[in-house]
Order: sequence, then C-alpha cells, then structure tokens
Amino acid sequence: MIKKINLLDEYTINKIAAGEVVERPSSVVKELVENSIDAGSTKITIEIQDGGKKFMRITDNGHGIPSDQVEKSFLRHATSKILKIDDLYSLNSLGFRGEALASIASVSKIDLITRTGDEKIGTKLSLEGGNIISKEPVGSAVGTTIIVKDLFFNTPARKKFLKSTNSETISITDVVNKLAIGNYNIQFKYINNNKIMLTTPGDNNLQNTIRSIYGKDIYNNLIPLSIRSKNLNLDGFIGNNSIYRNNKTLQHVYVNGRYVKSKLILGAIYEAYKGILPINKHAICFLSLKIDPKKIDVNIHPTKLEIKFEEDQKLFNYIKDEINKALLSSTLIPKYERTY
Ligand code: ADP
Ligand code: MG
Repeated sequence: MIKKINLLDEYTINKIAAGEVVERPSSVVKELVENSIDAGSTKITIEIQDGGKKFMRITDNGHGIPSDQVEKSFLRHATSKILKIDDLYSLNSLGFRGEALASIASVSKIDLITRTGDEKIGTKLSLEGGNIISKEPVGSAVGTTIIVKDLFFNTPARKKFLKSTNSETISITDVVNKLAIGNYNIQFKYINNNKIMLTTPGDNNLQNTIRSIYGKDIYNNLIPLSIRSKNLNLDGFIGNNSIYRNNKTLQHVYVNGRYVKSKLILGAIYEAYKGILPINKHAICFLSLKIDPKKIDVNIHPTKLEIKFEEDQKLFNYIKDEINKALLSSTLIPKYERTY
C-alpha cells in the first residue's frame, strides 16, 4: 500500500526536537542557565529536587522578557539573538537556535516569571506540554525565573530512561560546575533538595572560583597558562602531576566562553601530559580558548557541545606543544634525575 506523505504538526515537531536538545534534566539546566547568561545576569540560582526529575528552578537577575514577548519566547525558532544566517558567524551569545524553550516546554510543565527594568509589574506564564494554561501579572524583581516540573510527564517512554536521582544529580552538578567556572564574573548558587551545594564569588577571578568549587588541594597545584598568538589566545590553569583523575570530569575547556567537549582539544591535552601523568590518568584543567568565530563552527549539533575548527591538525599540535612546554618549565613539576 502506498502511504500518503503528511506534514507533522507543530506539537509533534517540538517533541521530536526535544529529543535532541533535552536529553535529561542536566540539559534543561544547561539551556536555561545559558539563557540567563545571555540575558546579562550577574547572579544565577539553580535549585533542583529529585535529580531535577520533579523540579528545577533557575532564577536570574538579567534583563527579563517584556510582557508582550513572553508567549513568543516559547515558539520554535523564536530568538532575540540572531536575525539572519550571517549573524551565526559572528555570534557572541550562547543561544541562537530559538529551540530550547519550545523543546523544554513541550515535555514538561513550566512556570515563567519575568520582569524587565521598564515594567512596573512582572508577568507569569504557565504552560503544560507546550500549551499555554494562563498568563497573569505578578509581583517580581527584574529578571527571570523559570520553574520546570515533571520532565517527560507526557513522554513516558523517555521518562523511563531517566537515571537514578543520584546519577541525574551528578550530571546537573557537573553542568553547574562547568558553567560557573566558565563564567567567573557571575555569582552562582546551586541548591539541591533545599541544601546549598555551591556558591561562587562571581568576582571575576578564575582561581577564586576554582577554589570555591574544588577546594584548596586543586587550587594549590595549578600552573597558570597564558599564550598569545596571531590567531588565538589560550588562557587558564592546568594541573601539575600531583593532581589527576580517573576520568575527564575535571577537564574544563571553553571556546569563546562556551563550554565544549572538543575531541580535538581533549586529545591534545592527553598527548601533552604523556610521560607526565601515569597512563590512563586524566589531567585537571581549566582552559579558555579565544579564537576568531569565523574559524569555528559551533552549529554542528543542537547541544552545541562539539565544535569544528578550521586547520584542526595545526591547532591540535599547537595546543599540545604549548601545554607540554608549560608543564615542563613549571617549578610545580618535580624534576627527576635520569638514572639511565
Ligand atoms: P535562544 O537562546 O536560542 O535564543 P531559547 O528558546 O533558549 O532560544 O530562548 C528564546 C528567547 O527567549 C531568547 O532568544 C530570549 O529572547 C528569551 N529568553 C529566554 N530565557 C531568557 C532569560 N532568562 N532572560 C531573558 N530572556 C530570555
Ligand atoms: Mg537559549
């Protein structure tokens, strides 16, 4: 039998898109906090319950959303960050696809409370499964609060795949740590089941922020890195050979302010530490790469975690060599006499 070709409705399209953007509670936290950062916030609070499965609340003091725009922000491809394709290549904000709010809303219950500096009163918009339930004026500080409840309540198959409260919490904690390190000019507070897990100073000092999250032992064993070259700047801190991990969770890599999981950069770091760390152990690092946005493509995956570089082999060697040089010339690395 020949089947008719159908166009999917908006609701179904959003649910499918949600499959790419919203993998688990930590992806919701990442998208919402990135929106808060883009809104110029200096203070962001993340609250979760039950690994984010039941409840997540992100509160910021950013510029807010004007009352007449709040519904629009939940439409797919609604974004205030780009107007046309060229804007993609000179992008300074973390968002741009206009997909996050629409996707998250389609698989959860949401309350959004927001107020701009120009407005006397705030607006509260409530949605369920992407449908607007109510919109009303409400007292609110300038900024935005988004509450996401019952993630995947309407997609039982996906809900079943959520991991234990403990693993989902670990994943959210990891996302919050990475965002806080990458934005050390912003004060972060992270509350899990009513317990404060983390507060960062937001004093624009990376080392202070590292210490507030990872403690003194790591703070005391970091080698500073500051490399300037024609095409890129590489700044941050790398661990010496007395601190390392069994996995890569303490490898923080940011490209133009965006946390990424770049295979290329992580590979270069691994190579740079060869002979310095025990085999199969992983370095600790906090690295920020600034590069001309025209030389990278961040648009290869909806989560924007992987990134494509022009002249990638050259970049790989450059990063590997520079990190290796910094390691070998640091007084924090003990020098052993060769006995053979
Ligand atoms: P994108 O971030 O790709 O633009 P989103 O779906 O994440 O798309 O958000 C849609 C729009 O809603 C944003 O472009 C922005 O205008 C607005 N918005 C979302 N979150 C906030 C926030 N916390 N503060 C101010 N505006 C926001
Ligand atoms: Mg966004």
